[in-house]
Amino acid sequence: MAEAPSARTAVRRHPERGRYDRAVIDAILDEGLICHAGFVVDGQPYVIPTIHARLGDALYLHGSAVSRMMRSLSGGFPACVTVTLLDGIVLARSVYDSSMNYRSAVVLGTAREVSDRAEKLRALEAIVEHVARGRWADARRPSEAELKATAVVGMALDECSAKVRTGPPVDDPADVALPIWAGVVPLRMAAGAPEAAPDLPPGVGVPPYVARYERLTG
Ligand SMILES: Cc1cc2nc3c(=O)[nH]c(=O)nc-3n(C[C@H](O)[C@H](O)[C@H](O)COP(=O)(O)OP(=O)(O)OC[C@H]3O[C@@H](n4cnc5c(N)ncnc54)[C@H](O)[C@@H]3O)c2cc1C
Repeated sequence: MAEAPSARTAVRRHPERGRYDRAVIDAILDEGLICHAGFVVDGQPYVIPTIHARLGDALYLHGSAVSRMMRSLSGGFPACVTVTLLDGIVLARSVYDSSMNYRSAVVLGTAREVSDRAEKLRALEAIVEHVARGRWADARRPSEAELKATAVVGMALDECSAKVRTGPPVDDPADVALPIWAGVVPLRMAAGAPEAAPDLPPGVGVPPYVARYERLTG
């Protein structure tokens, strides 16, 4: 099993739940629809929800070229990106031993602005495909003005960790005989029926990747 790439990414509480294999980390990053990007501006930490996508050994984020998040992340400052997948609520007999089943990944590093046009387009394609696989081939591609208005930052995946909890509650042996229900309520993200835009011209059908939308399963 892979070891933590650095002292600061080593999982301390329940270290047996720490996973450092890229296959595990990549699967979490790929399944998670959004991330939370953390960065510090003038001593104030901000944690902002945003879309991400992984391409090989890099994680990409995008946003308005004038947004504080993108300007801060492209300034070469330390950043932290977290993706969390919630798999279930774990109800133990005691509130103390109750928990959640989850898979989460934390990526530390310094983001860089992607200025190379080809890499920027690849990253935008990855972001679009991350949200809805099949959409890039279908949707109108960005114009030059739209490309200019959009900033993309990339972060290397060389300092990251995952933490994974699975399974039933682990109660104190003294609590097991209590007449209190214990177990797991599984949770998963599920798509509802697609709702067409009110101004959709007649005859435009629902593409298969929309009709059968689902996140990857871990
Ligand atoms: C699911 C999801 C996906 C998103 N994907 C993207 C993306 O891919 N790219 C992107 O640029 N933005 C995305 N956003 C929006 C993003 O969270 C920020 O709102 C946006 O980047 C802020 O830009 P800003 O420069 O205006 O705000 P900032 O100057 O960064 O924020 C100013 C203040 O506004 C408040 N604020 C900002 N955003 C939020 C928020 N989301 N919720 C509550 N308060 C907030 C905070 O108090 C913050 O300090 C996403 C949001 C969500 C919820």
